[in-house]
Amino acid sequence: RALEEVLRDAIRTIPDYPKPGVLFRDITTLLGNAQAFRRAMDELVAPYADSHIDKIAGIEARGFILGGAMAHQLYAGFVPIRKKGKLPHETVRVAYSLEYGLDEMEMHVDAVSPGEKVILVDDLIATGGTAEAACRLLKQLGADIVAACFVIDLPDLGGRAKLEAMGIDVRTLIA
Ligand code: 5GP
Repeated sequence: RALEEVLRDAIRTIPDYPKPGVLFRDITTLLGNAQAFRRAMDELVAPYADSHIDKIAGIEARGFILGGAMAHQLYAGFVPIRKKGKLPHETVRVAYSLEYGLDEMEMHVDAVSPGEKVILVDDLIATGGTAEAACRLLKQLGADIVAACFVIDLPDLGGRAKLEAMGIDVRTLIA
């Protein structure tokens, strides 16, 4: 079967979560489906098999799961991008806006060395605010951002365009 059909069937949609009017795309059903999870990961990493990627940077929390699998397949390291206050060592931090107010995310200062080739990953890109902040953090550490990867794109919300305007190569599996 075509990957897109496999993914479409494996992703569950929850209406009115986390609040009325929102259609939440739930990837836990994809992660729990051995065939769908493997095919999604194979497809995400395929273009980078010979690219000598140094690190996969995953955005808390679903990006950790996808990023761990990608790092394993690409013989790369994994580094976490976390909500503030969770990382034990010295960090770099950026503020970004949510629907209501501001939040902050952090990385360890030594998670990435200048010039290292890094792929950013999260489960879904909507407005792109989260991923844009993550890219700013990675750039602060001097990372060479090879691509930003997401299983799901919500194209109407403009996230892909926002990252592309920063010069980031965006890769998504399903819209
Ligand atoms: P953005 O910052 O692009 O507007 O929102 C993307 C972030 O919110 C990602 O970290 C993503 O995990 C989360 N997110 C927003 N909407 C959904 C959704 O419908 N399903 C999932 N799984 N995550 C979502």
